[in-house]
Amino acid sequence: MSGLVAARPRPPQRNQKKAPVAQRASDEDIAAVLANVAKLCGPATTLPQRYREAYGVALDARALGFGKLGALLSLGERRGLFAVERTERREDGTSGSWCLRPVGAEITENASDGGSVGLLGFYHYARPPWTEPARDATAAWLRALCAQHGLGGRVRVATEGVNATVSGSTSELDAFQATLSTTEGWHSVLFKREPCTSHQLWPALSCWTADELCGFGADESTRERLDAVGPGILLEPRAFRARMMEKDAVLVDVRNAYETTIGAFPGALDPKTRTFADFQQWLEKDETQIALKDKDVLMYCTGGVRCERASAALRAAMPEQKERVFHLQGGIVSYMDEGLEGFAGANYVFDRRNRHGAAPRGSDQVLGKCLACRKPWDVYRGSATCAKCKVRVLLCDACLSSRDHEALVCDLCS
Ligand SMILES: [Zn+2]
Ligand SMILES: [Zn+2]
Repeated sequence: MSGLVAARPRPPQRNQKKAPVAQRASDEDIAAVLANVAKLCGPATTLPQRYREAYGVALDARALGFGKLGALLSLGERRGLFAVERTERREDGTSGSWCLRPVGAEITENASDGGSVGLLGFYHYARPPWTEPARDATAAWLRALCAQHGLGGRVRVATEGVNATVSGSTSELDAFQATLSTTEGWHSVLFKREPCTSHQLWPALSCWTADELCGFGADESTRERLDAVGPGILLEPRAFRARMMEKDAVLVDVRNAYETTIGAFPGALDPKTRTFADFQQWLEKDETQIALKDKDVLMYCTGGVRCERASAALRAAMPEQKERVFHLQGGIVSYMDEGLEGFAGANYVFDRRNRHGAAPRGSDQVLGKCLACRKPWDVYRGSATCAKCKVRVLLCDACLSSRDHEALVCDLCS
C-alpha cells in the first residue's frame, strides 16, 4: 500500500466548495517520464518539458498515431503521473484532440502479494449531477481510497458520476467495495468482480476528471434533458434473455464496431460506430427508427454504463415507444458471468485482459478476422490501428510482424 495517504479518506460532502489537493509526483520523476515520452513520440510531438505545463495541452491523435498515443498512455499510467484523455472530436466524427491530465500519487508497491487478485468494475450516475467542486472532491476521495488499498486501475469522474475498473488483492478490493457501498448515495451501485491474473493487474492508478463518463458527446443541457427523460427499464440477465426470445423484440448493440466484430448477440442491430459519440447520429437515421418502430428494444453494452445514456437517448428520440426500451443490467459481463448462453464470440473489455469469456482458439466461436489475411482472429494488439480513422483493427500475430500493416484501413473506412 502506498504510504502517501495517512488519514482514512472521507467521502466528499455533496456540492462542497473546496477540493482537496492530490499528491503530486516529484519534478525529477516528471522530467524522467517526459524525457521518455519525447523519445517515444519523436520530434512531431511538441510536449512541454514540465508536467504541470503539460496539463491541458492538446495532442493531435491523428498526427501522433494511436500506437504512440497508447505507448504514451501506458507510460504515463505505469508511473501514475498522467492520463491521456480525448477532449474533442473532429467534424468528420473521428477522434481529434487529446489531452494530458495529471493523476494522483504514484503507487509504489505492487498490490499482488502472492494472494488472490481480481478486478472490480462499477459505475455510478449521480442524480442530480455533482457540481464541479463535488466532482473534484469525489475524484480526490477515490484516488486516496485506491492508494490506501493499493489498487491500480482507471477511474473516470465527471459531474454525471464515476466509471471505474480497479484491480488489486481480493481482500483490499473487498474493503474498498465495502467503503463505497456504505457511502451515502452509493447504495444502489452494482459492483462487478472478475478474476484476473497478477499480470493483468493495473500497475498504477489513473483517476481523472472528464466531461462525461463514456464519451456520448452530450453537452450539459443535453445531459439534463436525457436525465429528465431517464434511461430504459433495467433487465437482469435472465429476464433479458427471456425477452430476447419474444416476438417484437429487437436487440441493439450499443458498443463500437471494433467490439461487436469479435462478439455480439446474433441478430443484434450493429450501429457500426467508431466511438460512442457516433451513436446519436445512428439513432436519428430514418432506417434506424424504422427498424426499431413498434418493437421492444433490448439494448446492451459491456458493463451497462453506456446503455444508461443510450437508452435515454432512444427514449428521447422515439417518445411514442419510450415504455418499450430495455437494457441489460451489468452488461454482457454480468450476462456471461451468469453462465447464460446466447452471446457469441468474445466480450471486448477495456482492462488489461482485453477480452472476457473468449472462445477457445480455432473454434468457430472466433468471430473476428485478421484484416490482412482474413483468418479467424479476435485479439487486438495495441499498435494495430486503421491508417485512416485510427480505430483498433484486428491483425494476427503473423501479419502484425511480417506485413506493412500501417497502410491498412478498417472495414468502416474501406
Ligand atoms: Zn493475418
Ligand atoms: Zn478506419
